[in-house]
Amino acid sequence: MLKFENQAHVPSFYAATANDRTCYPPLDATVSADVCVIGGGLTGLSTALNLAERGYSVVLLEASKIGWGASGRNGGQLIAGYSCDIDTFSSHMPEEDVQRVWAMGLESVEIVKERVAKHQIDCDLTFGYLTAANKPRHVEALRAWRETAELRFGYRGYRYVERDEMRGIVASDRYLGGLHYAGSGHLHPLNYTLGLARAARDAGVSIHEDTSAHAVGKTAQGHQVTCARGRVDARYVVLACNAYLGRLAPALARKIMPVATYLIATEPLGDLRASETMPTDVAISDCNAALDYFRLTKDRRMLWGGKASCSTRTPRELAAAMRRDMLKTFPQLADAKIDYAWGGFVDATMNRAPHFGRLEPTVYFAQGFSGHGVNVTGLAGRLIAEAIDAQAARFDLFGKIRHRDFPGGRLLRTPMLMLAMTWHRMMDAL
Ligand SMILES: Cc1cc2nc3c(=O)[nH]c(=O)nc-3n(C[C@H](O)[C@H](O)[C@H](O)COP(=O)(O)OP(=O)(O)OC[C@H]3O[C@@H](n4cnc5c(N)ncnc54)[C@H](O)[C@@H]3O)c2cc1C
Repeated sequence: MLKFENQAHVPSFYAATANDRTCYPPLDATVSADVCVIGGGLTGLSTALNLAERGYSVVLLEASKIGWGASGRNGGQLIAGYSCDIDTFSSHMPEEDVQRVWAMGLESVEIVKERVAKHQIDCDLTFGYLTAANKPRHVEALRAWRETAELRFGYRGYRYVERDEMRGIVASDRYLGGLHYAGSGHLHPLNYTLGLARAARDAGVSIHEDTSAHAVGKTAQGHQVTCARGRVDARYVVLACNAYLGRLAPALARKIMPVATYLIATEPLGDLRASETMPTDVAISDCNAALDYFRLTKDRRMLWGGKASCSTRTPRELAAAMRRDMLKTFPQLADAKIDYAWGGFVDATMNRAPHFGRLEPTVYFAQGFSGHGVNVTGLAGRLIAEAIDAQAARFDLFGKIRHRDFPGGRLLRTPMLMLAMTWHRMMDAL
């Protein structure tokens, strides 16, 4: 079982440069809300914020700190679409639905843009992203994908970059070409997450850190979420626990493999050296299954990620091992000091498609972002809120009808009701 309760942020570059130190109080009372969201990462916050904007009362529980999980540690690559191949969807749904899923993959990036603008989130959002080909077969695959995107989805946002041009984007001999997409990019993920938390709080969400949900039980009105020192009674529950879900919903957790992946951040390289290394400031992932991903930070450090592993044990000499990988692409950074090294768990599904659904009609979950959560979590939050709202909207129409008390109190109520029914029957018979 992964440890996730009452933890401080891992000592990452992001934690060191977090621009919001708000502490949210632990829950120590019994409270009621329309919705209890469990998990204070991008999925939980996005869901909570969307619901609050639609007028729901929301309590959000986070076992450690807001953004403590993958959301506050990731590579910060904001890439339209999903981790899986689009044909994964084709084997489960008709083409018209695949087209809708594709469109939502683009929408997911727009959601992040909208949130950053609307809530003025200071998270270094920068546009420009490239998938780099390591091998000739990757070149073929990227070219084919560009063509598919155009012919099947009418999408013209990808530009294939030839090898000669690559050195003007990434100063390395390692890549044979790449697919550039100006509509994707990168950001500081912890500051983005903290910004969403602020927006959620301002919209009325009651946020509690260091508050682990121990169990979700049923009541006559809905659900009861129990914690060490408090309880939430709610009509709806949203599970947004990512790789840490295990105890709450073992059946769901079985659909997820926690895959560890790691990052290092060098010391600031200075403007000149940084621009000689990555002249166009794009985010890059390569095409290998155990991929490398990298980009510059706002303060001009090289942020290098990779070393995916199914082991939950951190590799020994992590910083040195990651540095060796980085030098295969950028030997020119041999003398750059490594200031930070950390890792986290990606929630991977078998087919790498996201896993959204309901455990029962009023218990929602979203997980399985498979390394593509910076964008898809925003979409998950929007969709869960839409789904809850649609269900409740029909129900709540009836709630708008104001019922008056019967006159006459309890004793006279039955005779009066019978009188009224007799009257209506007489009217029916006329
Ligand atoms: C190292 C790394 C690099 C990555 N790089 C990228 C990238 O560049 N681009 C990209 O798109 N994606 C990337 N990802 C994936 C992305 O970060 C995730 O998909 C996304 O953050 C998932 O968000 P989440 O809110 O679902 O989960 P998390 O951020 O993990 O949040 C889940 C939260 O739930 C809390 N929790 C769990 N159980 C309970 C409980 N019982 N009670 C209360 N709280 C609970 C946890 O404490 C945790 O904070 C990366 C992931 C990692 C680990």
